[in-house]
Amino acid sequence: MPNVIVIGTQWGDEGKGKVVDALTHHVEAVVRFQGGNNAGHTLVVNGEKLVLHLLPSGALHPGCVCVIGNGVVVDPRILLEELGALVGRGRTLSTEELVISPHAHVIMPYHLALDRLREAALGEHRIGTTCRGIGPCYEDKVARRGITVAHLLDPDALTARLGAVLHWKNREIVEWYGGEAFDLDALRSSYLALGERLAPYVRDATAVLYRVQRRGGSILFEGAQGTFLDIDHGTYPHVTSSNTVAGAACAGSGVGPTSIQEVVGIAKAYTTRVGSGVFPSEIEGPLADTLQIRGAELGATTGRPRRCGWFDAALVRHAARLNGITRIALTKLDVLSGLEQIPICAGYEGIDDDDFPTSLSDAVPRYENIGGWSGDITACRTLDALPGPCRAYIDRIQELIGVPIELISVGPDREATIRAGDLFAPGG
Ligand code: GDP
Repeated sequence: MPNVIVIGTQWGDEGKGKVVDALTHHVEAVVRFQGGNNAGHTLVVNGEKLVLHLLPSGALHPGCVCVIGNGVVVDPRILLEELGALVGRGRTLSTEELVISPHAHVIMPYHLALDRLREAALGEHRIGTTCRGIGPCYEDKVARRGITVAHLLDPDALTARLGAVLHWKNREIVEWYGGEAFDLDALRSSYLALGERLAPYVRDATAVLYRVQRRGGSILFEGAQGTFLDIDHGTYPHVTSSNTVAGAACAGSGVGPTSIQEVVGIAKAYTTRVGSGVFPSEIEGPLADTLQIRGAELGATTGRPRRCGWFDAALVRHAARLNGITRIALTKLDVLSGLEQIPICAGYEGIDDDDFPTSLSDAVPRYENIGGWSGDITACRTLDALPGPCRAYIDRIQELIGVPIELISVGPDREATIRAGDLFAPGG
């Protein structure tokens, strides 16, 4: 199997976890390369739900090397909690199975405090962050005042870093927002203790990934969030604080672009978005509630209800170009069963299909109506088993986005999957 990047083509929550899980059987390593525990990948294994926020999805597969790359921001307490939750299910990750880059930045308690205080102060203009400290941590990384995993393993370095930064953080927290100051000694000792617990897993991740490739193993790069939450290419300012596009896999892991052969885009059969921000194909009214309920559209990280809309082909077509997507996995098709008509946003009024508007706020969808289908499709395992109108819906989407759809997910279970291409062939 080639090295593959898996990326969300919409605003996240596309069902990446399940597709990554399906591919993980065939790879030797799974890498997270951006974001932090603001992600939430839901896996359903033997009917049991497991949500991972920080650990790569490969964590469920014994022998798979799970890499937390340099591009990730790590909250050590959350990471240790997730490892503990897996132990509770009988799965203990060895130091061979989990590798944490020493260059990953650490989410400190003052990042969490600032995230919450700033969002509260913004009131109705809040960004809608998950308040996990991700944005403030990336801010410090870029401002070169961050704390890395390596610093947690070096008492002198941690003391020096905290000494240089904490008084500024406390000033902002106390004087600007009226919050409570953090004590340097207490932070230092608790984070050194966390560092000690993580130390066995901290290793040069680039060397680990190089060795995997040298012995002929393949790597899966697991994107978090979605293309239109990318800090550069997304619907700014309602975006996340990292690059979520496929190109970020290289910078966030230390694997060069010539080593990556495939980019799989995950597209939900309709569109959802959590929190504020533009959403051209959003549905207003009871149909939106129907999709929200049927699709269980509640944020995996925050529990917030997701806004629902029709499939926006202009969005996914643009995502295909931004990410260099080679194959599409279409998820949650079962949720659309029973609708009489299904509109697809084929493009935007007055915009050439090869272009994409600078801002989506004035984009007016150009809808096409496709006839719906009735009956439950969750037991279908081949394209031929799907009702004719359902196949027509898939074909039209494929035509509009210009990339082959090679996996179709028809239910949350691992088995509820139609595999149409060689990359996803069972055992292939
Ligand atoms: P991710 O962050 O992109 O992995 O997406 P989430 O995990 O937040 O959302 C995916 C949700 O949809 C999870 O609850 C999955 O179990 C569920 N899911 C995934 N694929 C399907 C599908 O084909 N049909 C249905 N009904 N649910 C699905």
